[in-house]
Amino acid sequence: MRFELQAVCPDTGARAGLLHTAHGVVETPVFMPVGTQATVKGVSQRDLERDLGAQIILANTYHLFLRPGHELIRKLGGLHKFMAWPRAILTDSGGFQVFSLSDLRKITDEGVLFRSHLDGDAHLFTPESVVDVQLALGSDIMMALDECLAYPANHDAANQAMLRTIRWAQAAHRHHRHVAETIGSGSALFPIVQGSMFADLRRACVAELLVLDSPGYAIGGLSVGEPRSLSLEMTEVTAPLLPKDRPRYVMGVGMPEELPEYVARGVDIMDCVLPSRNARNGCLFTSTGRVIIKHTRYKDDPAPVDPACTCYTCLTYSRAYLRHLFQAGEILFAMLATLHNLHHYLDRMQQIRQSILLGRFRAYLDGVRSAAVE
Ligand SMILES: [Zn+2]
Repeated sequence: MRFELQAVCPDTGARAGLLHTAHGVVETPVFMPVGTQATVKGVSQRDLERDLGAQIILANTYHLFLRPGHELIRKLGGLHKFMAWPRAILTDSGGFQVFSLSDLRKITDEGVLFRSHLDGDAHLFTPESVVDVQLALGSDIMMALDECLAYPANHDAANQAMLRTIRWAQAAHRHHRHVAETIGSGSALFPIVQGSMFADLRRACVAELLVLDSPGYAIGGLSVGEPRSLSLEMTEVTAPLLPKDRPRYVMGVGMPEELPEYVARGVDIMDCVLPSRNARNGCLFTSTGRVIIKHTRYKDDPAPVDPACTCYTCLTYSRAYLRHLFQAGEILFAMLATLHNLHHYLDRMQQIRQSILLGRFRAYLDGVRSAAVE
């Protein structure tokens, strides 16, 4: 994997670049649709590729490990082939899901023992095993196992989790280097910066992780219940300390209007379940704010969801029809709404990227901020 920086906003440090992977080039900054179970809920791979032009998606290690199992996916040619997705895939470490979904966790320096939320079976994730699972999946960008704390956490607990995350990242990198030297590996491994909401811990974590000389770095432990301003603050503390020539990934963040805020803090890659989850709940993001489709005022509204949007949903269907589908609980609603919301996110990122390349990002950011105030 190679990262090529194309332009940097002199005012904010926002970056535009190209991430060259074995499964195509990813233009950054980029928003990754979330494909938890090897599917972005409600949209086909054809729609993702052709209609949305997605260049990279995220898949969840924890979920695929439990079902259908990474060995089965390996046997069937890896995740790209299994899910018929020819472009890039990033997989998370499973850490976040272990800490948020599973029961009876026992954390030691060796790893984390947990029970599956599906059938209660016990499993052990170690820094090494999580690399092996992601290698079996054939992911282009893998994450090192980390300990992700809920918010709020006290300084001592956050420090312990951060130190363990560093030790796990070191072990994961040692293991991956060994695999790369003996068998070969086409995947890049990113360590994850933890430290909860404490700037000193975030800085200490970065200092240790830089020694690993990784091809990229992730900032984790955000969007765990803290105020949104704090997520941005922690990103602002962390991102400038990371190597300028490597991609930076902030995990699990982003309301649409926050995308440029993260980019302004030097972030290249983001993901969030919001566009797809909100779509299924009838909340549609538009260029002029949100449309809650169940509202009675849309009952006979012949206009598209967002007249400024060029997605298939907006070019084809009225708010009245979409409201009807939602009220009737039709599957088509989830499909069309997800397509629109993802299009909205990817389109915004495309505008952000263009504004950086054209040297107009500052004006773009100011425009978004003043619109948010109105
Ligand atoms: Zn649309």
